[in-house]
Amino acid sequence: MIKLGIVSPCYNEEEVLAKSTERLKELFDDLISKGKISKESFVLFVNDGSKDSTWQLIEKLHEQNPFVKGLDLAHNVGHQRAIMAGMMTAKDWADGVVTIDADLQDDIACIEKMVDAYEHGNDVVYGVKVSRAADGFLKRKSAEAFYKLQQNMGVDMVYNHADFRFLSRRVLQALSCYPERNLYLRGMIPLIGFNSTTVDDVIGEREAGVSKYTLSKMLNLALDGITSFSTKPLSLMVSAGLVFIFISLIIAGYVVYSLVVHTAVHGWASLMLSVWFVGGVILVAMGVLGIYIGKIYSEVKRRPIFNVKKILE
Ligand code: UDP
Ligand code: MG
Repeated sequence: MIKLGIVSPCYNEEEVLAKSTERLKELFDDLISKGKISKESFVLFVNDGSKDSTWQLIEKLHEQNPFVKGLDLAHNVGHQRAIMAGMMTAKDWADGVVTIDADLQDDIACIEKMVDAYEHGNDVVYGVKVSRAADGFLKRKSAEAFYKLQQNMGVDMVYNHADFRFLSRRVLQALSCYPERNLYLRGMIPLIGFNSTTVDDVIGEREAGVSKYTLSKMLNLALDGITSFSTKPLSLMVSAGLVFIFISLIIAGYVVYSLVVHTAVHGWASLMLSVWFVGGVILVAMGVLGIYIGKIYSEVKRRPIFNVKKILE
């Protein structure tokens, strides 16, 4: 029987935490009575520097429910790092960990299937969204475009899988040896290996509160996903450069021709055009380089990706 840990990152989630705890308690009671998970299984809420009373609420829930544990981070480090902090804390306490957003929009019935898949020899179980009907139109479309773009950029990841997944203790152990700072867990987990499978996840509505994933947080995640796992943008830059050299050769041919037939003076427009065009291309190329250099910069500093303020065991 597995001792299960559920890790849930919380940023300003005071409106939804009590309800989520209730739902998880029902799930635990059910799984324990079926003999699928041990009585020592637990939920670890990671408070990611919330500005509201989320941590006070976690402390209260911890007092009321023996299965609730808490991890208070020193400040807001973002979804990916908060999950990492939770997993690295829970890995010494559990045989396997499921990560799920605190709003429980993912289908928690999947957790039982994940445990079953673990018992059948899988170390990694991905929750794959089969329906995002509950997500808004814009969120759905932007997410789909994002997955497609990543695939085209050569990032090896599971389509329509976010961060709802089960990892066994030995995967967590392996993950702890990946010291990268620019975290993109969806890209990292497939790199670790071990047997894996998927379960179907139907996304529900958020029970309360609003999405904590602002547009800028989403764009940053998308950028991290591509630039942390693919160097294709760099080679695309080289290809683009070659194309522009080719185009300028054609223009050079035209210039020679116009000299020969004495119509050379009115070249101002084409000159200005190419100056701006090439300038733009160079800037874009430098920007892409800059992004990668920025990443190297933050990797070489080896700063810790989170700091723990307090643990409720
Ligand atoms: N979250 C976090 N730190 C942040 C932003 C979000 O820990 O800086 C958590 C949030 O509390 C939630 C999860 O990440 O548990 C996903 O956020 P949300 O449900 O708001 O995003 P959405 O489902 O709309 O993509
Ligand atoms: Mg959500």
